[in-house]
Amino acid sequence: MTSDIPLPEPVFEFDNEADVRPGGAQEPWRVLLVDDDLDVHQATVFAVGQHHFVGRPVSFLHAYSATQAKSILLSEKGLAFILLDVVMESHTAGLDLVDFIRQTAGLDHTRIVLRTGQPGYAPELETLLRYDINDYKSKSELSAIKLLTLFTTTLRSYQQLCSLSANRQGLSLIIKASASFMHMRGLDDFAIGVVTQLADLLGSYPDGMVCARAGLLAGQPRVLVACGRFAEQLHLPVGQLHDPAIQERLTQAFSLGQSDFGADYFVLYFGQKDGLDMAAYVDTSSLCAPMDSELLKVFCAQLSACLHNQSLIEQLSAQAFVDELLKLPNRARLITEIDQRQAEQKTGLALALVDVDDFSSVNELMGHLYGDQLLKALSLRLQQAVGLDVMLARVSGNAFGLFGPLHSISPEQIHAAVARPLMIEGRPHRITITSGLVILEAQPHSGADCLKNVTIALKLAKRQARGQHVMYTADMGEMARNRAQLLADLHTAFDRHHLFLVYQPQIDLASGALIGLEALMRWRLSDGSLVPPDRFIPVAEQSGLIIHLGAWALHVACQSMQELIAQDLSPLRMAVNVSMEQFKTSDFFDTVMDALQTSGLDGCRLELEITESVAILGSGHVREVLNKLRAQQIAVSIDDFGTGYSSLSHLEQLPLDRMKIDKAFVRQLGGGAGRIAEMIAELGQTLGLRVLAEGIEDRASWDALQAMGCHEGQGFFIAQPMELALLVPWIRNYCGSLARAALAA
Ligand code: C2E
Ligand code: MG
Ligand code: MG
Repeated sequence: MTSDIPLPEPVFEFDNEADVRPGGAQEPWRVLLVDDDLDVHQATVFAVGQHHFVGRPVSFLHAYSATQAKSILLSEKGLAFILLDVVMESHTAGLDLVDFIRQTAGLDHTRIVLRTGQPGYAPELETLLRYDINDYKSKSELSAIKLLTLFTTTLRSYQQLCSLSANRQGLSLIIKASASFMHMRGLDDFAIGVVTQLADLLGSYPDGMVCARAGLLAGQPRVLVACGRFAEQLHLPVGQLHDPAIQERLTQAFSLGQSDFGADYFVLYFGQKDGLDMAAYVDTSSLCAPMDSELLKVFCAQLSACLHNQSLIEQLSAQAFVDELLKLPNRARLITEIDQRQAEQKTGLALALVDVDDFSSVNELMGHLYGDQLLKALSLRLQQAVGLDVMLARVSGNAFGLFGPLHSISPEQIHAAVARPLMIEGRPHRITITSGLVILEAQPHSGADCLKNVTIALKLAKRQARGQHVMYTADMGEMARNRAQLLADLHTAFDRHHLFLVYQPQIDLASGALIGLEALMRWRLSDGSLVPPDRFIPVAEQSGLIIHLGAWALHVACQSMQELIAQDLSPLRMAVNVSMEQFKTSDFFDTVMDALQTSGLDGCRLELEITESVAILGSGHVREVLNKLRAQQIAVSIDDFGTGYSSLSHLEQLPLDRMKIDKAFVRQLGGGAGRIAEMIAELGQTLGLRVLAEGIEDRASWDALQAMGCHEGQGFFIAQPMELALLVPWIRNYCGSLARAALAA
């Protein structure tokens, strides 16, 4: 029969003497007596019923048979100790019940002591161990005093077992909590997480609050989450909490950086004193079992680590949206902002992209620190120019994004920002900027798309209108997409060997002798049609692919020249076009040497055609590379002369061999406007260079050019560019007829 109300088994056990029931009554140990002898029940209760064991009284449940005991075992919880008679209904009833206690009722911690009146019924040692039986006593052994000792040792061992198991459960909850903290974003989330995890540990939601300081809450700590009777104190600064004692405890915890465990409360402090820190205040007066303070300390240590990670994550995500140098929103932040405004369906918005012209040379010449200051000064100017309702973001190295109302982002306003020189290190520095502008349409685009469109406009401005602005239009996007497609196709064509070289003969205008070949790149599509180099070379140049294409062309051209030499058909030299992008690379000279070495061609049989734009790269670097080439007897010519912007004084200083008159000027000869070609021819002679005219399409041009003192020429009138297989018979034929003409003369 039960003599007490069953109590739930607590999840958390028990700080020894402090185990107090709500209202001050101590929780009794629940002990089940199983014996078919009524006297034994009475004697036991009489001997120990009035005593306290490890600080608590006992309450008894009574069963007079194994069957009765079974029903109690299935319905009652929190049994600390079962004192069990071995022989009842049968000789083994007691031992069978042990099996029932452990296996069926699942009571792992409950302590069992067997007792028997008949010494012959002692269980085997193996049984004692298997069922985790504390002790075996004969009834005669159990005097009142021995019973007291037995209760003390047995209940203590029960207490230790429960405590161990509760700690194990607590630790696993704490580990689980750490994992859930990893997914939390933001302090509020974290504080709610603390309460949830505490509720898990305590078995119910406590009356409590979580306070934090630092970050946005720097200074006075404030309540982030408040539960139970503290609910209405949410968001209050700690100094304004209703209970001065709680104010004091929390303030102490924050100033000492320590947790505090009182009789009816605890304050858990976690975080870092000089960083982000938090304290949780929990009123424990209404809890049925107090928490193990050691376990709570482990919980705090764990929370501190999680909070530290949390603040690292916050710092990282802040960094993900802020440009470190200028402390401006970065590209990602700008895109998010545009997305948000678009979602709000705001109209009349514009996005501009502003790029500093020649910023890389400023960095190279003046150093990166100077460049940084220039960007800072420009960012201030831009913000002043457009006003504070425009978001200024740093989108890349030297490009700024401006996003806001269209009327604040006019190109005039933007460019006025640099009308006066910037002041850097106390000295004026004049810069120009180029900008692209896109007006956000009623039909929203994503932030990323808007930025892509404005970049298209900026790139176009950079190519065609440096120092000015270009407004994005839909067909610009179309063109950019086409270019992107072309580039992708070009990559594939290169990989699949769909590119090849053709060679155009160059001759001496006076004698007609074949003096050289120019290698020109071709791209054949799968339908057999050709993409002209004027279309694909610029795209390859902008993307950097030209570096690979150019190196490949050098190798193939040198190889072809070797084949011609082997057949005794070669002219003096092979000319290969070189883009500025190629020339700029630090290993350009090595690439040239590699092509020579692989093919075995002599440097004196190679000529490189560079454009005037190469000359404006900065004469120091150019001259150095050209001198190295010259040392290998490699010739250099200036291609398309007259179409670029090179300064003559620059050109004069460069070690060049030949100047090529662009075909545009040659074409004008027929119309009588041949003055430019003549000037170029004269200039070439003055500079001591050989002069070669491109695009000779008829006899008249040949004669006119020759009369101007132009030495050499190439053009359809002499020969079309040809693949090697056609070139070989052409050279044979041409040189043969030239020889015949010479013989006839
Ligand atoms: P370029 O270097 O000035 O080459 C001369 C261009 O004039 C070639 O055009 C040639 O086919 C063309 N041409 C030759 N004779 C005549 C003529 O009598 N009349 C006319 N109208 N045109 C003539 P192509 O082959 O279309 O090449 C165009 C440009 O593409 C080249 O101009 C060069 O700047 C570039 N390019 C070609 N191959 C390469 C290369 O391997 N690397 C680099 N970087 N650029 C190349
Ligand atoms: Mg050329
Ligand atoms: Mg040319």
